[in-house]
Amino acid sequence: GFRMGIVGLPNVGKSTLFNALTKTAAAQAANFPFCTIEPNVGDVAVPDARLFKLAEIGKSKEIIPTRMTFVDIAGLVRGASKGEGLGNQFLANIREVDAIAHVLRCFEDDDVTHVEGKIDPVADAETIETELMIADMDSIEKRLANLTRKIRGGDKEAVEQDALLRRALTALEDGKPARTVDVAPDERKSWRMLQLLTSKPVLYVCNVEESAAADGNSQSARVAVMAAAQGAGHVVISAQIEEEISQLAADEAEMFLSEMGLEEPGLGRLIRAGYALLDLQTYFTVGPKEARAWTIPRGTMAPQAAGVIHGDFERGFIRAETVAYDDYIANGGEAGAKDAGKFRVEGKAYTVQDGDVLHFLFNA
Ligand code: GDP
Repeated sequence: GFRMGIVGLPNVGKSTLFNALTKTAAAQAANFPFCTIEPNVGDVAVPDARLFKLAEIGKSKEIIPTRMTFVDIAGLVRGASKGEGLGNQFLANIREVDAIAHVLRCFEDDDVTHVEGKIDPVADAETIETELMIADMDSIEKRLANLTRKIRGGDKEAVEQDALLRRALTALEDGKPARTVDVAPDERKSWRMLQLLTSKPVLYVCNVEESAAADGNSQSARVAVMAAAQGAGHVVISAQIEEEISQLAADEAEMFLSEMGLEEPGLGRLIRAGYALLDLQTYFTVGPKEARAWTIPRGTMAPQAAGVIHGDFERGFIRAETVAYDDYIANGGEAGAKDAGKFRVEGKAYTVQDGDVLHFLFNA
């Protein structure tokens, strides 16, 4: 599954948010199996109302949402790249995530110390980005030194890695994160394997005071401008509200949310922003046994989409039968969709669309 690392300076509300999200997810997902929650790793069900509608129409016994993993990465402080705080352990944790949710303190509260002495989320974002850029430069220089020997030995992969690392280094020395480097489609896999910290997509999470949860405040507005300039994602959340919601029963939570002018807990907004940032989408499989959601990158072809369920589905792929979500709902399920001519048979070259209800036929 996809992993989102939560980072930020100390005292910005990371742990509050992480605990609230995983507790809310656990409460909502009480009936879902395999909801494992470790101290700093939360495996949460992705809220998707469509799945419940499909399960109802399809008379599915079980509902299995798709999942996203949140990792609370504590210990990032000014000087982390030089081994301050948790240093290397922390950096190793970041290397393993697909995207970074960067929590920024946008709330005023004299009782909560700000490590830099004042509320300035844009400056805080730069402080963290600078640490990550220094860490990337250090690791690139070490890796380049190691690659020299391999290149002399005629290692082709080393030549490619060397070229990519040098491009990243040029950007970093120019004060720009590695994610600003243009990478050709056929280089993307090797690029990802480099696991550079500043190559990961970033979602800025503005932690605002309760009264600003719906519309944000002047600080979160500054972050929005910064995010847009960087092509990063951006979402406004009140960690304190999320914490309160996580302690309420479902009906109380709903009332509380509407009083705050909110439609849903922050978890949904955060996950949707993460999906948009990572260019992910969802397809469904619906049967009497279970209704299930699956996550794939946008643009995935039918055989690779099938491969998310099982490698055999991809290897032996014959065809996909599909009904679009809206057609499935409008026609009361698969049989109705068939009668209405909305049931399609698609081949290997079919690009799966968000919301597709799919059956795969394959050679075992
Ligand atoms: P972390 O160090 O980033 O993980 O921050 P914590 O989640 O431990 O929060 C640090 C302190 O800020 C705690 O005392 C929280 O109760 C408080 N805090 C977190 N979020 C908010 C918020 O939205 N508003 C206010 N006023 N305090 C908050």
